[in-house]
Amino acid sequence: MKIGIIGAGAAGLAAAFDLTKKGHDVTVYESAPFVGGQASTIPVGGSSLERGYHHLFTNDEAILDLMEDLDIYDHMKWYPSKVGTYTSGKVYKTTTPIDLLRLDAIPIIDRIKLGLFAMRVKRIKDWKLLEDQTADFWLRERLGGMAYEKVWAPLLKGKFGDFYDQIGMPWFWSKIQTRFASRQGIRQREMLGYPDGSFDTIFDKLQASIKSKGGEIHISTPVIKINVVDDVATGLKTVTPDGEEFDRDFDCILSTVPSFSFPDLVDLPFEYKERLSSVHYLAAVVVILEMTDALTDFYWMNIADPDIPFLGLIEHTNMLPKEWYGGNNILYMTNYLDREDPIYALSQDELLDLYLPHLNKFNPKFQRSWIKATHYNALSAAQPIIGTNYSKVIPDHRTPIKRLYLANTTQVYPEDRGTNYSIKMGRKLVDTILSDERQHWRNWT
Ligand SMILES: Cc1cc2nc3c(=O)[nH]c(=O)nc-3n(C[C@H](O)[C@H](O)[C@H](O)COP(=O)(O)OP(=O)(O)OC[C@H]3O[C@@H](n4cnc5c(N)ncnc54)[C@H](O)[C@@H]3O)c2cc1C
Repeated sequence: MKIGIIGAGAAGLAAAFDLTKKGHDVTVYESAPFVGGQASTIPVGGSSLERGYHHLFTNDEAILDLMEDLDIYDHMKWYPSKVGTYTSGKVYKTTTPIDLLRLDAIPIIDRIKLGLFAMRVKRIKDWKLLEDQTADFWLRERLGGMAYEKVWAPLLKGKFGDFYDQIGMPWFWSKIQTRFASRQGIRQREMLGYPDGSFDTIFDKLQASIKSKGGEIHISTPVIKINVVDDVATGLKTVTPDGEEFDRDFDCILSTVPSFSFPDLVDLPFEYKERLSSVHYLAAVVVILEMTDALTDFYWMNIADPDIPFLGLIEHTNMLPKEWYGGNNILYMTNYLDREDPIYALSQDELLDLYLPHLNKFNPKFQRSWIKATHYNALSAAQPIIGTNYSKVIPDHRTPIKRLYLANTTQVYPEDRGTNYSIKMGRKLVDTILSDERQHWRNWT
């Protein structure tokens, strides 16, 4: 089969890998001048570093299986993470369950409730029973008190902004399952994974394998139209890097573009389009600082304080060696926000002016002179907002146009989106496409 894939992120390349391995003729089109999508990298201090901080959890089996298939499993290394939470004007260590007992921003009874509550959610086996409630309602009703007010409510508001009270409870359930799965040992320390050489190690090997089996990957080549004849997808119209429009026929098309841009490529029936537009996306605005000194000694800092204009600090080199980045400390300052939010429109310098005065709250010694370089990245389709009863309205991978399939992060459920789930989805779509093809020929003969 001749298959056209739109997007060279984790989903598109994982699908292309399996399809080329099975002998199919695959062409991947990517609008950006690089592959990797949201998990792509930039060069920093002689290494590659993700535009948005990335790590893996120990139960991210699909990406580990793929690394095994690519013969790079031994490149995955596991590191203990150190987590802090900033609340009530102070940084608290919240790495292990014991640390929660020392979180004196809330009364001891609420600290105990916080830990027991997480255990209770972890024991829930069937997330479907939680589907009709929001995480905010569940937390307010069943946990409540200062543990809700001081810890979970600010985190939900920080992560989802105005949408904080719309997030379905399965999101919270899956986060708790993942975090517990990554805890190890008596002290229940969290271990996080990071591939040697960055996520590029996986994308480079995927590209090499796809190309070695005759697959094509065209970067800087956006798809501008999916050609359809009599409700059947027949090909793609792209713009080549030198600006030429180019049509190519395919037997089947897999699109991995976000739901908000898919309808720009193809006319879709009202009901399917409604499903796509019912999921709102938050964008991520990420500033990376290369610094002479470490700001804190935490890898991951939750910020449960509405007066701080960013949601999290991720100090990459508190988990990974700074020698990889020319000896500099790497700090991500991150925000998830609506694309209409004024912060999304700020320039890098404006963002720095807004953010940097707050860094002294984490380390009074911090000075601007520590900063040797800055990088700014905005990712428009970073976080889909998945509400209640989503299993009833999730868009089908098989679109109403025959031979046209969709695989994007709004179709990852009940888990939160992540490279692991995009890889799993891309590979699952290969099975769906090939089984539909077999069925098609059975019906024909
Ligand atoms: C800030 C941030 C931090 C994250 N941290 C983690 C983490 O720690 N661990 C983890 O596992 N995951 C993390 N993720 C999530 C993870 O990166 C994504 O879930 C995953 O990479 C999505 O892969 P995808 O292929 O589904 O989509 P994408 O990566 O979005 O790929 C879609 C591709 O389609 C291309 N495209 C769009 N339109 C067109 C067009 N018209 N023509 C051609 N190409 C087109 C895009 O350029 C893009 O490359 C994070 C995401 C963000 C934003």
